[in-house]
Amino acid sequence: MTSALFPTYARADLAFTRGEGAWLTAENGDRYLDFGAGVAVLSLGHNHPHLVEALKRAAESPWHVSNLYRIPQAERLAERLCTATFADLVFFVNSGAEAVECAIKTARKYHAANGQPERYRLITFEGAFHGRTLATIAAGGNAKYLEGFGPPLEGFDQVPFGDFEAVEAAITNETAGVLLEPIQGEGGLRVFSAAFLTKLRALCDARGLLLVFDEVQCGVGRAGTFLACEHAGVAPDIAALAKGLGGGFPIGACLSTREAAKGMTLGAHGSTFGGNPLAASVGAAVLDIVLGEGFLARVARLGALLRQRLAELEDRYPAIIEEVRGEGLMFGLKTRIPNGDFAAAARAQGLLTVLAGDNVVRLLPPLIIDEADIAEAVSRLSAACARLAAPAEKVGAA
Ligand SMILES: *Cc1c(COP(=O)(O)O)cnc(C)c1O
Repeated sequence: MTSALFPTYARADLAFTRGEGAWLTAENGDRYLDFGAGVAVLSLGHNHPHLVEALKRAAESPWHVSNLYRIPQAERLAERLCTATFADLVFFVNSGAEAVECAIKTARKYHAANGQPERYRLITFEGAFHGRTLATIAAGGNAKYLEGFGPPLEGFDQVPFGDFEAVEAAITNETAGVLLEPIQGEGGLRVFSAAFLTKLRALCDARGLLLVFDEVQCGVGRAGTFLACEHAGVAPDIAALAKGLGGGFPIGACLSTREAAKGMTLGAHGSTFGGNPLAASVGAAVLDIVLGEGFLARVARLGALLRQRLAELEDRYPAIIEEVRGEGLMFGLKTRIPNGDFAAAARAQGLLTVLAGDNVVRLLPPLIIDEADIAEAVSRLSAACARLAAPAEKVGAA
């Protein structure tokens, strides 16, 4: 495959021509059950009629006007996000990394506005992923992503995952807050416990620190609640959203309490495209469904069902699957074989998944799947496991 694209991705040699719900059809006519959902983006699956309708309608009105003017669609979307969450104010962007950038800037500026500009450092966790801009690779701290790009942006102090004492020990007079994904995505589907988040909230309150959640992957219903942190009953001061918010249309958002956003005054930040009418219209259409009657409860129920099926698979194939992790419809299978081999075997059975760190294969289905899709996915995973287990069994029998 030669291509004029930067060769930065290990792409599967597959292109799709048709999508409907949780299903994709490849150029050669093969059908795939999409349990990757464009990396947790397609919250409502492919070509959801309500989103298609919203996008078509928005396409007949001005697509873009810039933030030099009022954008009623963005105002309404912001209001709905605030009603659904802890937030009082929203800044719209176009991607997850930009949403996290805005969250970092908001946290730093809060302390500057309080007359403490020296408090700019954020405590982060090993295994984190916050995006690929210069600030967010520094926040993530993954050496592979930092290498060759010059000195990392200063101001991030990384501690081991879930290590509360390490957080306490890392706090200095320069600490602005703590940044984490309530459920780590790229890092391998590790879930911060409710007890940990509760303790962290109390610690932040006691020390005047801001608690910042990167819910770019786990937010917007994926965890079975609108924000994943609702599981713990813990609200952050600032949160980043993106992936699922646009259901495939690029939109991100930085949510904040009024207090935490006190430094984000006139001229403090900006985005040309952020919250334009097209993006805000599609985001609103996603919320129509995700915040609709019973939707999140259904995600939680289907998630529990899928978890049970995956646990059975783990019991049946302990040499292949080491652990099932996750919440809602956001699962990771930690595999005992290379995760890439597992994903390839699943793809050969017509099931699309996404790799993560810590040798994990992610299952991130559209939130609109039904019991039949779950049964189909599990049957395909089971076939993949049988294939992968077969050679080892032959060796054992010999
Ligand atoms: C994907 C992701 C990002 C980055 O989002 P982009 O849209 O790729 O910039 C940031 N944080 C988390 C938790 C993510 O999963």
